[in-house]
Amino acid sequence: MMPNASFPQFRRDPLLDRWVLIAPERAAKPTECEAPALLAHHEVCPFCEGQEYETPHEVFAIRTRGTLPDTPGWRVRVIPNRYPAARRDAPQLNADDPLFPTRPGYGIHEVIVECPQHEIALAALSDGNVRDVFGVYRDRLAALRYQPGLEYVQVFKNHGAAAGASVEHTHSQILGLPRVPRDVRDEWDGAADYHRRHGRCPFCELLAQELASGERLVRVTEQCVAFTAFAGRFPYETWVVPRRHGSHFDQLTAAELTDLAAVMRSVLRRLGPVSHNFVLHTAPLPEPESAHYHWHWEILPRLTGIAGYELATGYFINPLPPEDAARRLRNED
Ligand SMILES: [Zn+2]
Ligand SMILES: [Zn+2]
Ligand SMILES: [Zn+2]
Repeated sequence: MMPNASFPQFRRDPLLDRWVLIAPERAAKPTECEAPALLAHHEVCPFCEGQEYETPHEVFAIRTRGTLPDTPGWRVRVIPNRYPAARRDAPQLNADDPLFPTRPGYGIHEVIVECPQHEIALAALSDGNVRDVFGVYRDRLAALRYQPGLEYVQVFKNHGAAAGASVEHTHSQILGLPRVPRDVRDEWDGAADYHRRHGRCPFCELLAQELASGERLVRVTEQCVAFTAFAGRFPYETWVVPRRHGSHFDQLTAAELTDLAAVMRSVLRRLGPVSHNFVLHTAPLPEPESAHYHWHWEILPRLTGIAGYELATGYFINPLPPEDAARRLRNED
């Protein structure tokens, strides 16, 4: 049976565990990105303070006591995505055809506006503002945990046209998904396998080894460590990992939150004005705290594109050895 034409819908590749969200509504999304290298300003930026009526009603905000939702007075604001990739009211589908598997495009798609003033880079915000943003990621993850039908909450950032941003004002996104994404599942399974064979969490082991050798270290604080990834896909790919073992990001401590924000801001400042993504990897929602999985952030600068080799194979070519990248990010040459 062919899937019916109700969107959005997830479609699975006939052979691979590769799900594609078919979401025609996204085609209507306006973009500030006329020239790929440069994001132009909106006539009026919908994310600036004073323009709250330009967006859907806020679902959460850190705001001054006494101010009303959808009015000025906020520091970080969360709104539903006006052009959601997945939606709460996705139409039901019943298509379990072995060649054409589909699922409803169910999910929750939110935008986090990171500051009220028109600033284009998270790294330009104060330490306190960045801490607020990461605190909002934690709080939204904790809230979406109770939303029925979700198995994973993906927090991610697109900065710059080469990283997929279409609005200039600094913001990030949250997609609540009905299944665990393949890369997260692979990482989870790989970590479980490592733990079975060696009796330790691979991320804790990685931290110990990176701290001992120092060759890929970028920034070290009491709570968090940033290092370039041993097999980084992109030049300057950097992972930020808490020293204390924990599977679920929303369980982080106040001290970890403060350090994480400072380390992320510091690494992004060192990277400079390059397009980049950063993404959270945390345990799937239904999983209990586990001895093998350890939440972390991955910062993916987009200095090199994804081309034929990467698309054909799922493998990557990185022209900059991660050890050299770390030396440069430490400002040693
Ligand atoms: Zn703005
Ligand atoms: Zn660990
Ligand atoms: Zn990861």
